[in-house]
Amino acid sequence: MSHELPELPYDYDALEPHISEQVVRWHHDTHHQGYVNGLNSAEETLAENRDAGDYDGSAAAMRSVTHNGCGHYLHTMFWENMHPDGGRTPDGDLADRIEEDFGSYEAWKGEFEAAAGAAGGWALLVYDPVDKRLRNLVVDKHDQGALWGAHPVLALDVWEHSYYHDYGPARGDFIDAFFEVVNWDSVADNYDTVVSRHE
Ligand code: MN
Repeated sequence: MSHELPELPYDYDALEPHISEQVVRWHHDTHHQGYVNGLNSAEETLAENRDAGDYDGSAAAMRSVTHNGCGHYLHTMFWENMHPDGGRTPDGDLADRIEEDFGSYEAWKGEFEAAAGAAGGWALLVYDPVDKRLRNLVVDKHDQGALWGAHPVLALDVWEHSYYHDYGPARGDFIDAFFEVVNWDSVADNYDTVVSRHE
């Protein structure tokens, strides 16, 4: 079963002026497509090697599955986590849980922004099913800094391809812009889905 690049849930220019049409085009059509292609290619190599009973190259292909698979998964969530009508703050159960687990929305946001400022990849809000709580994570590449079993519910891409064309080295301005387009309904859907499985 090969993986396919999902269509954006809005037009390429829908996130302007916060994220430019050009950046969304490059990011979705080139970078995200590259992770989809890399994942498919690695899975083909693994299947061919199993058929041949020859596992040379299989370890490299498994590493590629992690890198490209996490890239594909997180980019898919990232696109859904934004919307031109987004912004504002969370409400409902998700808002209550953020307050419970971080003290306040402001405290959660300050911590998430610190993650986004430091990461060499992604800032993630995740649900940790072991401790049954929300956590923020600093992720390098697409997978370094992962917490086993934790499910991302909000993903912010801070790779340079995500913002440099629009904001140059001012990553903080990009993080501020992201909060103008966060689709809290999608974050709440992710949260409700994962919590219903574990609580
Ligand atoms: Mn990216």
